[in-house]
Amino acid sequence: MSTLITDSDDIIHFTAVFGQIDLAVDIAPKLGCTEVDALAGLLRALGEPALADTWVDAHAVDDELGDRHYQGDPTPYLVPVDPMDVLQCDSCQ
Ligand SMILES: [Zn+2]
Repeated sequence: MSTLITDSDDIIHFTAVFGQIDLAVDIAPKLGCTEVDALAGLLRALGEPALADTWVDAHAVDDELGDRHYQGDPTPYLVPVDPMDVLQCDSCQ
């Protein structure tokens, strides 16, 4: 089923409304993977690939291991620090 898009103002209005980051952050985690992919596909079809990625990224925050958009543990990797470097002691090294 397809329909012709007869009013480009509706497209501009749709992308403006769904282009609000706050809306994506609030709503995207509540959508299922299939739903956010459908919305992202529509946004890409309308020429808004960055906006589509925004919705997928906002959704992925709540995906768990095994879910389609799971991006891993968000815990940052901490670089180990050599305590002798912190002391700046030449004789210790
Ligand atoms: Zn997902």
